[in-house]
Amino acid sequence: MTIPDRWEPLRAALAEKSAQNLSREIIAVDSPPAPRVRVRGRETVMLASNNYLDLANDERVKAAAIAATQKYGAGSGGARLTTGALALHSELEAALAQFKHAEAALLFNTGYQANAGVISALCPRDWTIFSDELNHASIIDGCRLSRAKIVVYRHNDMSDLRAKVRAERGRGGLLVSDGVFSMDGDLVPLPEWLAIAREFDLFSLIDEAHATGVIGTSGRGVSEYFAALPENRGRDLRPDIIVGTCSKALGSIGGFAAGRQLLIDFLRNQARSFIFSTMLPPGAVAAANEALRIIIAEPERLAKLRRNLQIFYDHLSANFGADAPPTPSIATLNAGGVSAIVPLLVGDEAAALTLAQELFTAGYFVSAIRYPTVARGQARLRFALSAGHHAADLTPPFRTIKN
Ligand SMILES: *Cc1c(COP(=O)(O)O)cnc(C)c1O
Repeated sequence: MTIPDRWEPLRAALAEKSAQNLSREIIAVDSPPAPRVRVRGRETVMLASNNYLDLANDERVKAAAIAATQKYGAGSGGARLTTGALALHSELEAALAQFKHAEAALLFNTGYQANAGVISALCPRDWTIFSDELNHASIIDGCRLSRAKIVVYRHNDMSDLRAKVRAERGRGGLLVSDGVFSMDGDLVPLPEWLAIAREFDLFSLIDEAHATGVIGTSGRGVSEYFAALPENRGRDLRPDIIVGTCSKALGSIGGFAAGRQLLIDFLRNQARSFIFSTMLPPGAVAAANEALRIIIAEPERLAKLRRNLQIFYDHLSANFGADAPPTPSIATLNAGGVSAIVPLLVGDEAAALTLAQELFTAGYFVSAIRYPTVARGQARLRFALSAGHHAADLTPPFRTIKN
């Protein structure tokens, strides 16, 4: 009698991934997170990082991290509610709340933990959560943790959302969306979306992971962008809950939720990923705080990112014509309505990998995004630009996919 090998299903799963060009490998970077990095012994232009404002390797940000580490140590030593709290944590929360025009904010260790903790704490089992089909995995996992009913609506489709909300009328609920969608780089249609939340008395949560520091005239996020449009003047376009991260434009690590004080008091008592996890180390917190200070003090960084986006969109348009992502207008760019994420749809998984490989050979680091991050057959190159790029970094040569 042969005894089945309990490891066999793992081998089979990996073999299947490989056969479908979906195997995941870790590529180590051998230099600081900068617009140019060393990978596998060669210098490449980094076109895939979330370090949008080039702050992760900023001397002042690093100095703040070092000083805080010297003064307070390498780790916080405990959860925030036990022994892990420093004044530094509260200072960053106050700065984030102010930046987001919110009453208060609460730090989590990552954006992932923020979504998991906030959504599961807020939503009881008898609620319905309405979630965009392209929402980030951490939102999906937060929804699942809550055990509420999950209704997924078509991406940014407000009539589908409205119909689904109507069908669930009478139940408490939450409307949740990425502010900037992480694989397509597009924005939630915030005014229409919020109007539905308010009409049906639902809580509203916007995940601003890619919006913080990038969207809106001064990088405060999607509410800032939409509220400045002439048709929305005078409207309060703040959702009930903002979730964000310090790991992208802020160049450090750490998640946060922002909103009214009542919400923050509730989360401090109920969000399990906040309560049962050791708080962020002092260095990371000081770094994020310094990065936020720089973002506010030096708006030219965001202006540079926007000039870089312009150059890059023009380059894609010159290479791919009608198959390029549509070039945004200068007005929209300057108003902060354009994210730093630029997707180039390829379709086939193997073709996307080949293209990324060719670009790597030519000295450009770019991610081939495949299933399950995006749907099968929707593989793409996902470019992410930084304020630190020079114009010469932004014209990679495209060869095989000239179609
Ligand atoms: C990156 C990201 C997160 C997770 O943030 P981390 O701090 O990296 O855990 C959450 N939501 C969205 C939309 C993201 O892109």
